[in-house]
Amino acid sequence: MSQTKIGFYGHVKQYHHLKAEIDQAILEVLESGSYVLGPQLVKFEEELAHYMGKREAVGVNSGTDALLLAFLGLGLGAGDEVITTSNTFFATAEAIWLAGATPVFVDCDPRTRNINVTKIEEAITSKTRAIVPVHLYGLPASMPEIAKTAKRHGLFVVEDCAQAIGARGDSFAIGELSDAVCLSFIIQKNLGCFGDGGAVVTDNQQLATEIRKLRNHGSLKRSYHSIGYNSRLDDIHAAVLRVKLKRVDEWSRRRRELAQIYDRGLAGAPLTLPFTPPGYEHVYHLYAIECDLRDELQTHLASKGITALTHYPIAIHQQEGFSWGRPARVHPLPITEKSAACVLSLPMYPELTNQEVERVKEEILNWSTTHQALSERAG
Ligand SMILES: *Cc1c(COP(=O)(O)O)cnc(C)c1O
Repeated sequence: MSQTKIGFYGHVKQYHHLKAEIDQAILEVLESGSYVLGPQLVKFEEELAHYMGKREAVGVNSGTDALLLAFLGLGLGAGDEVITTSNTFFATAEAIWLAGATPVFVDCDPRTRNINVTKIEEAITSKTRAIVPVHLYGLPASMPEIAKTAKRHGLFVVEDCAQAIGARGDSFAIGELSDAVCLSFIIQKNLGCFGDGGAVVTDNQQLATEIRKLRNHGSLKRSYHSIGYNSRLDDIHAAVLRVKLKRVDEWSRRRRELAQIYDRGLAGAPLTLPFTPPGYEHVYHLYAIECDLRDELQTHLASKGITALTHYPIAIHQQEGFSWGRPARVHPLPITEKSAACVLSLPMYPELTNQEVERVKEEILNWSTTHQALSERAG
């Protein structure tokens, strides 16, 4: 049997596929002399806003800053509570703290692992100002229910869409039922530049203007400032992202094809596979399974040259030192904690071949049929 390695990321292969176009786009920026807040950024923002079906897109230097500047632009700060999930990348909550606000963690749904809508209502107090759902692994959260709750209580909704560009709900698009959508373009995301990048997408022109100001030292006009940040998306990255944005939908389709190979092949194995509610279009930023013997499975795959990683093995409220002297409220999080203990992300990127995914599947099946302890526990 072939023992070639199967890595976790495909971005170097992706670069090789697009090399001529990307190299040319970068060289044009180098020759243009406009590297910051230049024409490539303007064009990328127009194309991204159009792609998302929104009026405005504002490029910033990371997904974390997209969240932070969206929160600040909406006026969130000290004393304000923001309801979110602990089953996410750390930056979701970090940005809430950096804005000076209080994250309130509620549990996730056992099937989708996105924020559990029924838990949001119970967590609302007179201080609640916003809800921040995360479209985890590329699956949209239940936005219609979230939007209804938000409307009833007069709350903002900011979507953490770092993992889900191009995804759709059954009856809704991302960005349709919220105040702002935050994206990350760090290289490993579904749309990635060669480093860090992010954007806020919104129909709220006042908010977009405020974020444009915040990202540029509080300045919209040369020499006039208030206190902001230095958080701009560079033109080189914008030029690269323009080349890649045209391919995102094709890449998402390919991710779904590969997910189907995993879904079919692993259906009988003692694992929990990703769940997609009917009518939703998952974009599989990650193909995350749950396995009671996660660490053993991960080690087995590694011994076969296959890299599987964990997202996220330590939930935010479980981090050492939590909450670092900052305010936080934590509701019971049994599903989040179970997920942290069992979750394992299998290789998933458009550049994988069907044969590579078949081999990962085979190795998992071999392991699960021969693993006595697993069958005992599963039985
Ligand atoms: C990647 C990510 C972020 C942060 O984006 P950066 O560009 O790395 O700052 C925030 N939230 C989620 C869910 C992410 O996956």
